[in-house]
Amino acid sequence: MLSVAEKSRRRFLEETPLGRTRRARKIHRILADTYPTAHAELDHRDAFELLVATVLSAQTTDVRVNSVTPALFAAYPDAGALAAATREDVEEIIRPTGFYRAKARSIVGLAQSLVDEFGGEVPNSLEQLVTLPGVGRKTANVVLGNVFDVPGLTIDTHFARLAQRFLWTDSDTADRIEKDVAALFPRKDWTMLSHRVIWHGRRICHARTPACGACPISALCPAFGTGELDERKARKLLRFELAEDAGAGGKTDGGSRVDSGRAHGSTKADGPARTDAPTRADGSVSGNARTNEEDTR
Ligand code: SF4
Repeated sequence: MLSVAEKSRRRFLEETPLGRTRRARKIHRILADTYPTAHAELDHRDAFELLVATVLSAQTTDVRVNSVTPALFAAYPDAGALAAATREDVEEIIRPTGFYRAKARSIVGLAQSLVDEFGGEVPNSLEQLVTLPGVGRKTANVVLGNVFDVPGLTIDTHFARLAQRFLWTDSDTADRIEKDVAALFPRKDWTMLSHRVIWHGRRICHARTPACGACPISALCPAFGTGELDERKARKLLRFELAEDAGAGGKTDGGSRVDSGRAHGSTKADGPARTDAPTRADGSVSGNARTNEEDTR
């Protein structure tokens, strides 16, 4: 007998390209409704800060990066200051983000390149951004989309996983995933699509145990059944890594609500976050949805 996951997958294997595009856009509409406040979760005030924070976010959580950047940018408020920094001093500040020696070398080198090549300013084109040390397409697209309003897809670990689960791509390379997904959506949607998919990956569609039984897009997902199907158990898996000011939730097609408020350093970097309100019988989730530590990156 076929498993639920296998049945779900088979339903979509014969999908036409047009059907896939329609399904993809419907998923995006539901995610937009589910996460009305989706945004870049790395705290920043300008392109320089977002660029540095994105480099620091490799192999760690945004929460952890947000815990060190206030001190970092207080000490080094611009590229010129960071370029002149002593690496050991930078290492001390960013140590909680892990790989701090390599990251310190990276961001000081990045700042030096900004000073040497771009007059201390962050360039606003993909071609120029990717010439900076440690900056690839993902980081460049984060900066372009969130600071310069240039649409871009951010193919991070969450986005890649979900794009594969949704059968938006059959590739596991970032460049190919970006190309496949770009073909499904209008360019203007790319930045917000990235935020919403990443939020879904962080909050519901986790790497190890997706909360399928509490997922607003379950009817459209070829990977439905990969995770927990029991709704009550699935709700316990919901995670709100950065959400403290619960209440900004959005409606979903299935009646679920996902609180998705902004947080600014509200959660501690050394442990799982919790929301405050209880799960309701009407399908709304306004809290006490305990978070877990699985794949919080
Ligand atoms: S949680 Fe389950 S149903 Fe929802 S998107 Fe992920 S795999 Fe699909």
